[in-house]
Amino acid sequence: MAYLEKADPTIFSLIKMEVERQDKGLELIASENFVSRAVLEAMGSELTNKYAEGYPAKRYYGGCDVVDQVEALAIERAEKLFGADHANVQPHSGSQANMAAFLAVVDPGATIMGMSLPHGGHLTHGSKVSASGRIFRAVQYGVNEETGLIDMAEVRALARAEKPGLIIAGGSAYPRKIDFDGFRSVADEVGAVFLVDMAHFAGLVAANVYPSPVGIADIVTSTTHKTLRGPRGGLILCKEAFQKAVDKQVFPGTQGGPLEHVIAAKAVAFLEAMQPEFTTYASQVVTNAQALADALKGHGYNLVSGGTDSHLLLVDLRDKEYTGKQAEEALGAARIHVNKNTVPGEQRSPFVTSGFRIGTSALTSRGMGVEQMETIAGFIHEVLKNVETGSATENVLNGVAGLVAEFPLYGKSVSV
Ligand SMILES: *Cc1c(COP(=O)(O)O)cnc(C)c1O
Repeated sequence: MAYLEKADPTIFSLIKMEVERQDKGLELIASENFVSRAVLEAMGSELTNKYAEGYPAKRYYGGCDVVDQVEALAIERAEKLFGADHANVQPHSGSQANMAAFLAVVDPGATIMGMSLPHGGHLTHGSKVSASGRIFRAVQYGVNEETGLIDMAEVRALARAEKPGLIIAGGSAYPRKIDFDGFRSVADEVGAVFLVDMAHFAGLVAANVYPSPVGIADIVTSTTHKTLRGPRGGLILCKEAFQKAVDKQVFPGTQGGPLEHVIAAKAVAFLEAMQPEFTTYASQVVTNAQALADALKGHGYNLVSGGTDSHLLLVDLRDKEYTGKQAEEALGAARIHVNKNTVPGEQRSPFVTSGFRIGTSALTSRGMGVEQMETIAGFIHEVLKNVETGSATENVLNGVAGLVAEFPLYGKSVSV
C-alpha cells in the first residue's frame, strides 16, 4: 500500500492498526473470516472503475466485454460449486440479496414467515426494525425453548394459520442442521415459495459438511464473506423458474451498477472453495466448533441445543451471575472477540442479553485445530470466572499473545 501511505497517511495508519488488531486477537465472531490474499487483490483491483448496469451481454454501458467475462465466470463457478440452476452474483450484501429475492416472489404487503431474531433468525427475515418487517406482513416462528431446536410442528401450524406467500429458513445464531425437507413439505402444503438463507453456513454447504438446501428450496440467498470466505457481498441461487424474476429484482429492482471488483473476488473465492483444501478447511471448522463446545461444557457452560452441527455455538448464561454484554466486554479486554447474543426465551434486551455466540471459521483459517480450541475454552473460562474483578485478564492476554504468534494472520494457512 505504498500509494496510500503517501496519499492519505491517516487512513493508511488506521488500516495498519486494524490489521494489527486482527492479527493480535482471537477472532471468534461467528460471521467473520479471513479472506485469502488473492481475494484481497481482486477486491482492490481497477475493476472498481467500471460501470456495468445490466447483466453479461445485456449491459446499459459500452466497454463491458472484459467485465462480462469476469461476471460470467463468477456465475458459472457459483452454479457449479452449489449445483444450482442459476446464480446472481450482484447483490452487494446478504441483506440486499434477501430484499431482491423476496420481491421476486411476493409483493409488498404479502405475508412472509421467518425465524424470529431473538431465536436465532436474521433482521432481514421480517424483524420490525428492518425494511423486511415494514414492507411485508411478517409472522415469525421460533425454537423450542427447552431443546433449542426448530419445532417443525409449530412451523407447520403457523404456516397453516397464516398462509404466508414465502417461507424462510436459515438464521444467524442457529447451531444445528435445519430440516430443509420438512420446510419444503410445509411450503408445498400452504402453496408458499420456500427460501433458504444460508448466509452463515454457505461455506460448509460448498464443502459438503452441512446439508445443502439447493434443489430443495426454490431460492437460496447467501453472503459470500462468512464461512464461504470470500469478499463482503451477497449471492442468490435459484431454480430456473425464478431466474428472470430474481435477476429483475436485483437490477433494476433494488440495485444500480454491480461491484465488478467484488464480483471478481467472489469468482476467486468460488474457485478456492472448489479445491480439496477448502473441504479440509470446512470440515476442520466443524470439528473445531464441536471441540470448543465440548470443552466449554466441560467447564460448566450450557449451550443452546446442547452443542453444534456447524461452525457456531451459542453459550447460554442464564444460570450465571453475569450478562452476555459483560461476557463480551470481559473477553474483549483479553483480546478474545465474541458477540453477545440473545438466547431462546430471552428476558434481557438485545443490548444486554443472556448469552454469547462463538464461531470457529476465522481461527480455523489461521490454521488452528482442536488443541487450540481446548486452550481457548480454558482462556474463556478463566476470564469469565473472574468477570467481576477482571483479575484474569493479564494472564489470559499473555496466553492469547503466545497463541496468535504461533498462528500468524496471513501466515501459510489462508492461501488455498
Ligand atoms: C449475515 C446475514 C445476513 C446479512 O448479510 P449482510 O451482508 O450483513 O447484509 C443475512 N442473513 C443472514 C442469515 C445472515 O446471517
